Amino acid sequence: MLRRIMKQIRPFLLLVSLLLAARCMAADRPNVIYILSDDVGYGDIGCYGANQVKTPNLDRLAREGLRFTDAHATASVCTPTRFAFMTGRYAWRQPGTGIAAGNATLLIPVGTPTVASVLKAAGYRTGIVGKWHLGLGETPPDFNREIKPGPNELGFDYSFIIPATGDRTPCVFVEDRFVVGLDPKDPIAVSYGQRIGSDPTGVERPDLLKIKAGPGHGQAIINGISRIGYMTGGQKARWVDEDIADTLTKKAVAFIERQKAGQPFFLYLAPHDIHEPMVPHPRFRGTSGCGWRGDVIHQLDWSVGEVLAALDRLGLAQDTLVIFTSDNGGAIKNTYDDGTNDLHAKQPPNGVLRGFKGALYEGGNRVPFLARWPGRIPAGGESAALMAHLDTLPMLAALAGQKIPAGGSPDGVNVLAALLGEKGAKGRETLVLQNNHQAPLALRVGTWKLIQRPNGSSELYDLASDLKEEHDLAARETERVKTMTAQLAAERAKSGG
Ligand code: CA
Repeated sequence: MLRRIMKQIRPFLLLVSLLLAARCMAADRPNVIYILSDDVGYGDIGCYGANQVKTPNLDRLAREGLRFTDAHATASVCTPTRFAFMTGRYAWRQPGTGIAAGNATLLIPVGTPTVASVLKAAGYRTGIVGKWHLGLGETPPDFNREIKPGPNELGFDYSFIIPATGDRTPCVFVEDRFVVGLDPKDPIAVSYGQRIGSDPTGVERPDLLKIKAGPGHGQAIINGISRIGYMTGGQKARWVDEDIADTLTKKAVAFIERQKAGQPFFLYLAPHDIHEPMVPHPRFRGTSGCGWRGDVIHQLDWSVGEVLAALDRLGLAQDTLVIFTSDNGGAIKNTYDDGTNDLHAKQPPNGVLRGFKGALYEGGNRVPFLARWPGRIPAGGESAALMAHLDTLPMLAALAGQKIPAGGSPDGVNVLAALLGEKGAKGRETLVLQNNHQAPLALRVGTWKLIQRPNGSSELYDLASDLKEEHDLAARETERVKTMTAQLAAERAKSGG
């Protein structure tokens, strides 16, 4: 009798045990919050040596997690770094992935495996809040209609984005394909190139500006700040720069609060800070003693603190991997007059590193990188593993136990062991670095770094003994230059170009 009952319920028992196993696996997979800040340099936060600005929340992440000292934005400017972050593919393999205009079309073909689509396939609820800057639509987008394809077609269940950058038109937020707060009777037009509308520009009326701007940022005046690009209409939808950090932080926290038991989430939080224009909310003004640049670092730190507080409040801290990093090194020559130079004198944005945003030197791409996952990542440690934002997709796919579709992430390396601080995990062996262009490039092999010059010659540095890139060894190490040049050429040839 018992045997018969057992036989009858065996399939059911099997199903229950399978479900339990799946649940166990799901419980092992943490939520992931990846905070990709903008233009924050290696020397810009306390736990990396900044002593003027105060970043208690970022320092907390370092104290409770792992601090990486050789992590890199794959490029030294926004768009190609974000392209590589999303796809695990070097941006220099695809022409047209330099800094995108505000009306650029979507740079990542729909169907490309992305960090969001892979985590979504693994059962994650996925969201992006903040700067996108990877283009939208198949043709230059009409911001008065549904705007697609975009992040929602690349794996994000939810999106609340700055379409391009804070210093480019259109100065509006787009939430799940629609401009937020748009009055249909006041349609938006955007132009890069031909002037539109009759509003004065920043170049014509500097007296209307709250911060002075160079001619490159001298077009549409929005909220008393002139921008790159023209824009008319959409008055009610236009953002107020002073409130951007508050808005993005609120949206990020709301996304976290929508957490459902049993389903992990992935939040890609891309703050506007500390990209220019650096316009702190009044409550942060003057708090750093380092001009508005220092004040927006305080603002960014506050945002991170709000996210950490939300995790604490919801009891999610233990189950959430939090990563904080930056999309490129600190900028030195901002074109807005925002008090930046005060900070440079007191505290170099990139610490001891040579170069800055846009360069192939370390100051362009070596960035802060903090990872916290209580109980899984050792607290308070430091790691010299070589890693890049390019590795995010394979690393998080491995974390989620999800297979990457064929052809996905051709250049990313699974550096999960390094992220988790496992003994002996060294990260990548080699890494190609770029600026805004497809050439020249730089190549890391171990601690050696080859930098191609536009004229075809090269520089060579041994970062183990010369982190500041002061001693060019190319003339002495001719064989190594030859080998590394060939390696770089082979890497390039993989894409047929
Ligand atoms: Ca940037």
